Amino acid sequence: MGSSPKSLDMENPLRSRLETSWDRLWRREEEFFLSGKPEFRHNADFIAVSSIAEQFYCEYKVENEFALGKIPTEAKNQGTDIHDELIPRVPVEKEKFVKLVSGKQPSYAVLRVWGTVGGLRIVGMPDHIVWMAGRPKWLVELKTTKGDPSFLWPDQEAQIRIYGLLLDLMGFDCSRMRLALVRLRAGELTEHERRTWIERVSVNLESGKIRELEAKSKGSMKVHLLAHTRAAGVAAIMEKRGYWIGEREPTSSTSVGKCRACEYNSVCPKSLYKSLGESSS
Ligand code: SF4
Repeated sequence: MGSSPKSLDMENPLRSRLETSWDRLWRREEEFFLSGKPEFRHNADFIAVSSIAEQFYCEYKVENEFALGKIPTEAKNQGTDIHDELIPRVPVEKEKFVKLVSGKQPSYAVLRVWGTVGGLRIVGMPDHIVWMAGRPKWLVELKTTKGDPSFLWPDQEAQIRIYGLLLDLMGFDCSRMRLALVRLRAGELTEHERRTWIERVSVNLESGKIRELEAKSKGSMKVHLLAHTRAAGVAAIMEKRGYWIGEREPTSSTSVGKCRACEYNSVCPKSLYKSLGESSS
């Protein structure tokens, strides 16, 4: 996407002469956020990408979050701290963002993604994007784990695919964009590795040497590479859409292991873990 092709707004020729593609994007973003109405389940105006992703883990967890509020856990707090440490961010003005991502060399910047799919107004914030000449080249999502990073779970895949779809629908040229979902045992990184982590991942993605970096991590990191397609993101949303528009009630987990790991298991009426505990007492 170039930084300043002319608009074809026939009703306002002066604006069409002056408005860049970036101006149009910011204007559309403003209109999108002004268009919110509490018309979805739980009176939500907008639906977070992370909520749709969570439906792939357990839809009742999303239901509990709205009914009971978010329950902080040590794992969640640690995950947030590690994200902040490995992918530090500083806020920048729009002009600086445009200048940064429009350069011919790879640059790193992230922005809020948004869009309407299947009648749902969806918003989210990806972890990291590598840009070149105004185009997203790599969309990167980090998931920390204490277990085996080689599994890619459906909720994680859905999340990055929906981010990619929204970026595409916002008007960016995503024809050469790839998705990298990084699963990492962050506790095994040294202090120096933490400080330079996102840069090393970005450079190795760009140079096609991510498998070498993975090999050096001795099993503590797996980078799941996915091709971006609009269809995959749309399919993930459409699979979960009925819950938000009141077409159906939430489904719940059929896995005792998921319920055991869930922070709502002591209060959730659908918890399999609690049921087992009660029946054995
Ligand atoms: S306890 Fe089980 S059924 Fe209830 S929200 Fe958690 S994962 Fe879902």
